[in-house]
Formats: sequence, C-alpha cells, structure tokens
Amino acid sequence: MYTYEHSVFLDAHKCTGCTTCVRRCPTEAIRIRDGHAVINEERCIDCGECIRVCPHKAKKAVCGKLDDMQRFKWKIALPAPALYGQFDNLDDVDYVLDGLRRIGFDEVYEVSKAAELVSAYTRQYLNTEGVRKPIISASCPVVARLIALRFPSLEENVLRLLPPMEIAAKQARKQALEAHPEWSPEDIGVCFISPCPAKASYVKNGFGDYQSQVDVVVSISDVYFQLINEMSRNEQPQALSESGMLGVGWASSGGEATALFNDNYLSADGIDHVNHVLDQIENGNIPPLDFVELNACTGGCVGGVLTMQNPFIAKARLQGLRRFLPVSCNFLPKEESYIPADYFYNELPEYEGVSRLSSNMAESMRMLANIQALRGRLPGLDCGACGAPTCRTFAEDVVRGNAKESDCVLTMREALRQYLAEKEESHDGTRADTADTVADGGAAGG
Ligand code: SF4
Ligand code: SF4
Repeated sequence: MYTYEHSVFLDAHKCTGCTTCVRRCPTEAIRIRDGHAVINEERCIDCGECIRVCPHKAKKAVCGKLDDMQRFKWKIALPAPALYGQFDNLDDVDYVLDGLRRIGFDEVYEVSKAAELVSAYTRQYLNTEGVRKPIISASCPVVARLIALRFPSLEENVLRLLPPMEIAAKQARKQALEAHPEWSPEDIGVCFISPCPAKASYVKNGFGDYQSQVDVVVSISDVYFQLINEMSRNEQPQALSESGMLGVGWASSGGEATALFNDNYLSADGIDHVNHVLDQIENGNIPPLDFVELNACTGGCVGGVLTMQNPFIAKARLQGLRRFLPVSCNFLPKEESYIPADYFYNELPEYEGVSRLSSNMAESMRMLANIQALRGRLPGLDCGACGAPTCRTFAEDVVRGNAKESDCVLTMREALRQYLAEKEESHDGTRADTADTVADGGAAGG
C-alpha cells in the first residue's frame, strides 16, 4: 500500500481549475477533476513547482511550527545555509546563529558544517574504484525521487550518502548526549530550518530503509521575521560558526560540485533543466563526467519555495558573505580513509505500479497499443481542457480507466458535428423523400 506522506497540498476552495499547475508539474501528477486540481500522490515528488506557479495561491506546503519544539528539553536548530542569503548586509553568520538561540533554541548546529563533511566524503567516494559514473548527487531529495520515478535506469549512479541536513542531525544529537549524559535521546529535539517542502517530506518518510533524525521541520519564511527582529538589536553575537565558504556554498547551485576540487562536473538547476539533463544521461548523450549536481529549484536551495528572497539576490548576498569565510573548517583527519557505514542509505523510494502500465507484460503491451491508437484520434493540441497536461497523458488516463474519451472537448465537438451532419443528412433525405412522395402523389392526384 502507498503510504508516502507529502508536504504539498491543495486548498480546493482557492483553486479555479485554471490548469497552470497541471502544465508545469514535472511528473504529470496533477489533473483537473470536477473543476479543481487533484494531485496523484504516487507521482508527486514534492518539488513545490505547483506552489510557485499557482496564480491563486491554492497550493501550499505544510511544515511544522516552532511551538512543536516545546515538548523537548534541549532544542537544537539546524539552519540550512540558504537561510544566510535572506538577510541584507550580513557580514557574519554568527548574527543568524546567535539570533536562533535568542528565539528559543539551546544550541545551533550548522548544516553547512555537515555539508563540508559530506563534501570531504564525496571526494573520497569519487576516488573509489568501480563506482558508476557520472555519480549523481541526491542531496536534493526531489532529484532522488525524480530518478526513482522517471529514470530508474540511473539509480546505480545515485550517490547514497546521507544529505548534510541528516549528518548535521546525527552529529548534533551525538554531541548533545555526550555533553548531557543525564538526558535520554527523547529529551533532545532537532529542528531543521528548511528552504523547501521536499526536505519536510523527506523527514516524514525517510529514504527507503533510513529514518530521519530530525524531529521538526519549519520553513525559513516562518522563522524569518522573529529572527530579523533579534538580529536587528545589533548586539555583538557570540562566536558560534564552524563552517567555511565550501559549506555555505551548498546553498547555491554549483556549490556542492565546487567543493569537490574536480572540474569534471556538470551542475544544473530548475526542474526542467534537471529533467533534460537526466534524460540526456539516460540516453548516453553527455560527455564523460565524474559528478553531476542537480537542484530542482532555480538557483539551488536559495530558490526553494519556503524562502523569502529572490534566489538571485540571495545568491549574490552569499557570494559577498563567503568572502569573509575560511575555505573550510571541516576536513577529514588524514587517517580516515573510509566512509563510515552509517553515512550511507541503501534504498531509493519505490514507485512500483506507477511508471508501469500493468504488472502483466501482455496486458502492458495491449494498453500501450490502445494508448497509441487513441493518441492518433486525439487532436494533439495539448490544450489541457480535458484536465490532463497533454494529449498523450490524457490517452494514458483513458486507457487506465481514469478518464473518458468524451472528456476531450475537441473530440466531443467533432463527434457532435458529425452527429448533427448525419442528422441533417437524414433529415434532408426524409424531406426530399417526402417532397418526392408529395410530388408523386400530386402528380397522381392531378
Ligand atoms: S494553478 Fe492549479 S491549483 Fe492553482 S488555481 Fe490553477 S488549477 Fe488550481
Ligand atoms: S509538488 Fe511538484 S510533483 Fe508534486 S504536484 Fe506539485 S508540481 Fe507536481
């Protein structure tokens, strides 16, 4: 049974059925039914694109609240590096970290610090013999789900290292328990401050066999105003930061790849570009590369739908901020020549039954033939009036039994036109016959 818990939802009262989101969803997960959008949960990858494009604000992300942390005795904040790009004239990350403590957290563990560890381990992994290249990063959870859903032949290429948020959660918990042996693990609460709904879904569901160590996810937009209030007090912050420009760079597209000190990489951002790149890798239509970094949001995590600022402005701010930072504060000890087993996860999410038409090969072939036949009969305009994004997806919906051929208004109009023409013809025929009969009768009677 399908049990994935999503973070992207529809407010049906606000939805006008305009089809904007239907056309933009990268996995063709949305249809219009009874006048409003419906999300197919098995296809949704929580990319947030529908939130970004809906002109009526009918799509929203559901995250936790800061109050959800009240149940814990020791509260740890994990700020995503994209948070630092939200503030104007920030020249010291400590203003943000200290601000988080002032709004109620006992401790802060930077995700950018964990990112530097992940970069160091990825450098090791790149030098491992026999790994399938290009290695594709799955730090953006949307990319991992997209590969599992649409490009399963690339699963072998996916780097199964836990993302920085997760490493940060593990390390923060460990440190807190070492510092406070009197507490049990349940006393410690870990809160990730997220730029996107995909990370909130990841925390709820884990990845296959791995369960997240994060307890609560709140959006950057939710903490922004409280934080800026504290930061504007202009008091000298406590020195807390332990990460450098490599870790902070993960907030923007290309930052993860740059931290590998290997120029043979590709980085792409924005869900359409990500889709195209994966398509080309699958078709073998790319030069030999070592590493591929993909971010579903434009500009990288700074472009997440739960942030406050324009991604390009946030990126420019981070460039300025990074000038004041050391290169990295987190290199691995020289003797550490292997990646700890608990830094890996084993499975990607499964989409059994979604991408395949049927579990029976003969039945799949029959359905495919029916889809192709129906596509031939459809106008091919991809107008969206049927509630599906394209005529091809509409044909698939009909063959799967999720729509009726008559839902296509153009097919319906053509059928109606033909019917009326036939009716007219038979009416004319009847009139002519009647006229002949009358004429014949008249002649006979005359
Ligand atoms: S974009 Fe989608 S959710 Fe928003 S109003 Fe249009 S159909 Fe409804
Ligand atoms: S979150 Fe992304 S995948 Fe899910 S319905 Fe919206 S656009 Fe489609």
